[in-house]
Amino acid sequence: MRKIIAAGNWKMNGSRDMTASLIGEIRAGLSRDCRGEVLICPAFGYLAQAAELIEGSKIQLGAQNISTEKSGAHTGEMSGDMLVDLGCSHVLVGHSERRAMYGDTSDLVAAKFEAAQRVGLIPVLCVGETLEEREADTTETVVGAQLQTVIDRVGVDALESSVLAYEPVWAIGTGKTATPDQAQQVHAFLRRTIVAQNAKIADSLRILYGGSVNGGNAAELFAMPDVDGGLVGGASLKSDQFLDICAAT
Ligand code: PEP
Repeated sequence: MRKIIAAGNWKMNGSRDMTASLIGEIRAGLSRDCRGEVLICPAFGYLAQAAELIEGSKIQLGAQNISTEKSGAHTGEMSGDMLVDLGCSHVLVGHSERRAMYGDTSDLVAAKFEAAQRVGLIPVLCVGETLEEREADTTETVVGAQLQTVIDRVGVDALESSVLAYEPVWAIGTGKTATPDQAQQVHAFLRRTIVAQNAKIADSLRILYGGSVNGGNAAELFAMPDVDGGLVGGASLKSDQFLDICAAT
């Protein structure tokens, strides 16, 4: 039985006040009903504050990006060692906003995945197709290639200590959630792709769905056999919504 994950991607939102109040509300509201894992990914500047605020709770901390470099002359970047030092256990790699706006090609995403694992961080690898790609019926080709680029670099065994997230670009921040069947179809395809290379790892790998998940639709998505939780943007900034998603785990 795979443990479900509720992961919040706060993107470039927040302040010291918001970090304190949101984590305070999530901590207070997390009931024993939440049997899954809970992960929050604030912006770099709030990681240290968040690490202190989650101490002693079940909430885990992730970053939204990582450098492929170890240290030195890389202005504006954050190394894996720094993220570990700040209290992170996870890091997002390949989020569609980074792929579309910040030049994160699949090769670079694979290098970031490797850099994360080099320091013991769990990469949350995001893959997903655009609306045009879905309409052209190339969803499987696109997400399959995004996944395979990582496998080709690090080997399929490396997926054992990672999380995969299927995030259709057309569903992110749009309010247009994939139907549970649409999500299941792609998740099953991703798992089949890995089964062909290592069945044991495919079976244990958690595949999250991301794209307009909220408190009202999380339960039906998480009920699908290959959906092992959610990567949540907008709704992770509202404690009541995020707590409902946590309860759905
Ligand atoms: C995301 O940013 O990863 C995401 C899924 O956003 P939203 O939940 O707002 O669609």
